[in-house]
Amino acid sequence: MRIGGFWPGVVLGLLLSPGLHAHPAPAAGHTTDTAPTRLPEDSSEFLLTPHVSYLHDGDGGMRLEDAVAALEDAAFAPMPEGSNSFGFQDGAFWFHARIVNQAPDEPQWLLVQQYPLSDSIDLHVLHPDGRSEHLRGGDHRPFSARSVRYRHPNFWLDLPPGEPVDVFIRIQSESSMQVPLRLYTPTAFAEMSRDIQFGIGLYYGILLSLFFYNLVLWLTTRDSSYFWYVFHLTAFGLVLFTLNGLGFEYLWPDSPWLADKSVPLSICLAQVGVQQFARRFLDLRNRWRTGDRIGLALIVFFLLLGVASAFLPYRISTPFASASVFISIGWVAVEAIVAIRRGYAPARIFLLAWAAFLVGTAMFVSVAFALLPKTFVTEYGVQIGSALEMLLLSIALGHRYAALRNENEHIVRNAKHQLEHQVEARTRELSDALGQLGDAHARLRESSQRDALTGLHTRRHFHEQLAPMLEEARTSGRPLSLLMIDLDHFKQINDRHGHLAGDACLRWAAHAIGDTLRRHHALVARFGGEEFVAALPDHDLDAAEAAAENIRRQLDSAPCEALNRKTVVTTSIGVHQIDTGLPGGIDAALELADRALYRAKSEGRNCVRTSAVTS
Ligand code: GH3
Ligand code: MG
Ligand code: MG
Repeated sequence: MRIGGFWPGVVLGLLLSPGLHAHPAPAAGHTTDTAPTRLPEDSSEFLLTPHVSYLHDGDGGMRLEDAVAALEDAAFAPMPEGSNSFGFQDGAFWFHARIVNQAPDEPQWLLVQQYPLSDSIDLHVLHPDGRSEHLRGGDHRPFSARSVRYRHPNFWLDLPPGEPVDVFIRIQSESSMQVPLRLYTPTAFAEMSRDIQFGIGLYYGILLSLFFYNLVLWLTTRDSSYFWYVFHLTAFGLVLFTLNGLGFEYLWPDSPWLADKSVPLSICLAQVGVQQFARRFLDLRNRWRTGDRIGLALIVFFLLLGVASAFLPYRISTPFASASVFISIGWVAVEAIVAIRRGYAPARIFLLAWAAFLVGTAMFVSVAFALLPKTFVTEYGVQIGSALEMLLLSIALGHRYAALRNENEHIVRNAKHQLEHQVEARTRELSDALGQLGDAHARLRESSQRDALTGLHTRRHFHEQLAPMLEEARTSGRPLSLLMIDLDHFKQINDRHGHLAGDACLRWAAHAIGDTLRRHHALVARFGGEEFVAALPDHDLDAAEAAAENIRRQLDSAPCEALNRKTVVTTSIGVHQIDTGLPGGIDAALELADRALYRAKSEGRNCVRTSAVTS
């Protein structure tokens, strides 16, 4: 398989050309071997280049007659040993061969110029009987002018067996002057092109599948590295496509302008892709600022060169762009090495990918310099190297993606742990606060249930607690009694001893009442002012009256000692046993107890009266 000129192939042309420039122009009278070239009887393919002689027509003005005359003057020189290239040259080149076909069954041969970038090729076939033909080719002529629809210029030759035929080929080109001329029988050409087409298909198949694979990855992940990889792959594919002659065949068969410009343009685009991909992949902005800036400068350089190449002559822009490729790729390798030294693991595969490309290209160049034997691997080094490069870069992208994902997962895991800890701490704090709030609430409730001055329950709490007590008494049938207790002439105590003394007496009386009733499991509360109320469960009227009498006696028996003064405080008490059989409520029961108290007041105070007598 020979895919023809490659981008380093263009550079190769450059590398080889200085030596060829040095070839002295053939001296006048130089004997030219016009002995006919014999196509062997049993061969189906023939490399013509070593058998042609050439003449450099510096201003390109020679016509066929001039060339024929020059041949007769022996002005044609033999081809330089082992070469088919003259580098970038002005004017036109004339090549001549006298061919005698010795294969009786093969009267027709296809002459193929296996370099697709030559601009204009004119083929003149002169037969001994005076018959002549003029065929045209090259990428400055429409693709449809070709004898066979094929990526290399080609021409059908009528070579009647045994008859010497003179073939003059005039080539004029802005691109490198290369003449790899080969003759094929129709069968041999069909077989050869089939094999090459298979190889080309395989190569572009790999490129195309990597293209779609990474395009989908870019569309799904939106990671711009994938975009620049696809960009580079497309531009690189375009370079090879152009250099292989496929661009002219399939993409711009009628545009000689694009046929010329596409080489430097695609080289520049591919390098923009390479540099931008490297910057993104290696994350140079964060890892190596200086390297990132130099990469950016190279991108600007290739963009400007790309624009300029639309105007510059091919012979200036293409060699310049090709030579810059080595700087660009060398620089990418430097970036990768720096990234590796700074501990960025995915850069290893990245470097390996470029190494594969460089090794492949070096092998191809070495074959051209005869440093390495021509084998499948060395001859197709560029294709194998670049396919490996693209494959490895795709793997490197995957590796990088996995590394990023692991890093992200690590960050998310850490954040989750931290969050869990914080939530735990906040929950603890919250439950502590809730506990404190509960305590405060309980204290508040307790204090709201207690009277501030006496420490007894409040009237409201008494009401709340009496309801269930009454309910309990009703269901159990056990008695429940109420005491309504009021201090006698308390206003006078205040008036006589002052309010503070009154308060102290009030407190003293409350304690005495509470102490006395404790053993009765009574619910005691300050009803208001100097008035108290008590509910005595399991006490019938008599038991309650006895308890009331106890209180009255307790207060009456000893004076209140407040503010260094002894004050006698007596009390009147009304007693009422609630009739649990009746539906009446608490207020009705309190009313009855109050009435009993009223009686105690009106009957002289410091006494106990029951509601039984009144009702
Ligand atoms: P009675 O024997 O008829 O009950 O006469 P009394 O003066 O006790 O009754 P009255 O209802 O006329 O007056 C109640 C007095 O209780 C009026 C008020 O000065 C006094 N008092 C009510 N609450 C307090 C209190 O919290 N502290 C003090 N120091 N005195 C109070
Ligand atoms: Mg009173
Ligand atoms: Mg009162």
